[in-house]
Amino acid sequence: MTTVTTPTNFAELGLISPLLARLTELEYQQPTPIQAQAIPSVLAGRDLIAGANTGSGKTATFALPMLQQLFEQQSASKSSNSKGNFVSGLILVPTRELAKQVADSIKSYAVHFNGAIKTVAVFGGVSANTQMLALRGGADILVATPGRLLDLISSNAIKLDKVQTLVLDEADRMLSLGFTEELSALLAMLPKKKQIMLFSATFPEQVQTLTQALLSDPVEIQVQSADASTLVQRAFTVNKGEKTAVLAHLIHEHQWRQALIFVNAKKACEHLADKLAKRGITAEVFHGDKGQGARTNVLEGFKSGGIDVLIATDIAARGLDIEKLPVVINFDLPRSPSDYMHRIGRSGRAGEVGLAISLIDYDDYHHFNIIEKKNKIRLEREQVEGFEVDEAAIEALAAVEKPMAKPEGTGKKKRKKQSFIPEDVWLRK
Ligand code: AMP
Repeated sequence: MTTVTTPTNFAELGLISPLLARLTELEYQQPTPIQAQAIPSVLAGRDLIAGANTGSGKTATFALPMLQQLFEQQSASKSSNSKGNFVSGLILVPTRELAKQVADSIKSYAVHFNGAIKTVAVFGGVSANTQMLALRGGADILVATPGRLLDLISSNAIKLDKVQTLVLDEADRMLSLGFTEELSALLAMLPKKKQIMLFSATFPEQVQTLTQALLSDPVEIQVQSADASTLVQRAFTVNKGEKTAVLAHLIHEHQWRQALIFVNAKKACEHLADKLAKRGITAEVFHGDKGQGARTNVLEGFKSGGIDVLIATDIAARGLDIEKLPVVINFDLPRSPSDYMHRIGRSGRAGEVGLAISLIDYDDYHHFNIIEKKNKIRLEREQVEGFEVDEAAIEALAAVEKPMAKPEGTGKKKRKKQSFIPEDVWLRK
């Protein structure tokens, strides 16, 4: 009988010493579940479909084997893979921020290859000229958003004929952002024979269709999108018009090291920042109308701890790796249930304890129920002491909770008990 064991250290995964040395320096003590399960198969050349969110360690899952394969090929042929305007490893991502972040991670993992692997990131919102210059002589690994990549291809800055490995990162997001046509155009330019890895937090029909059309006999791995053991999710009912007051109260009261607050519209970011400023809280905003330079600065400031409170639209929800974020707050509920998972995934990263709070007023009750149902979660409705919801809101909540409540009996509806926040569960500085 053969016993199959999951490797518990990086050496067992078959990674080579320059990568192992780097992982030690980065203090990665052991592979995350997705790394342990996927890396050996990917090194063996298999296609991969992974149900994984940011925070699972998915970047290293595709980056490490890709780097290793390219480095070994290069050592064998004693020359760079990237001759002419060609690229060997192509990683497609939905957002500029993710492109930069993934490329930075790859460069960091490749430190001990001493410049042998050239990694370039290309994305919209900045001048294409610098990116064209960076692509001169090709690239071993190219991380790109689909639109800018197509532009660069049409300017002959890069060619996809020699791609050996393709990674589709956050495939669901890429399709939901409307990149379907760009993606089809790009896929048509790739050589037939290639290894493909597809990562997606969710698998709506569009992603399934793409998967079936693209991958051949893939290894399939599913890891939990948000780790329940490290992420506490809470839902607070608030009166209509009181969200800002409750938010300011929570921030003052709990002095989180940092907080990421989600709203649904660009203007709402500025609006909320102004209202918080009046309550003595300085917040920065992050949304799609900000120039790339401003976005990078805000993000760096938030990552380095210089900014405590960041108000963002969903553009920040995907793929941003902000280490050890103690709390994510849904000031506005996300429109789609999958966005809820992406947003809350910003907290409680890589084994850290995190907290995700949703503020729900009367208008949100029904939508939040749908979010819960689709994500197969169920949270207790709590209240913030000093901001108790009024009778009308409790009635409304009860009506949404039990829309089919039978009219018989005493006529009195049994109300769900509302609990207050137990102080000891809050995460403090
Ligand atoms: P990702 O899911 O790729 O965005 O990774 C999330 C975070 O986990 C990043 O900060 C990585 O540097 C970190 N990370 C990835 N793999 C490991 C590991 N095996 N041990 C510790 N941290 C890791």
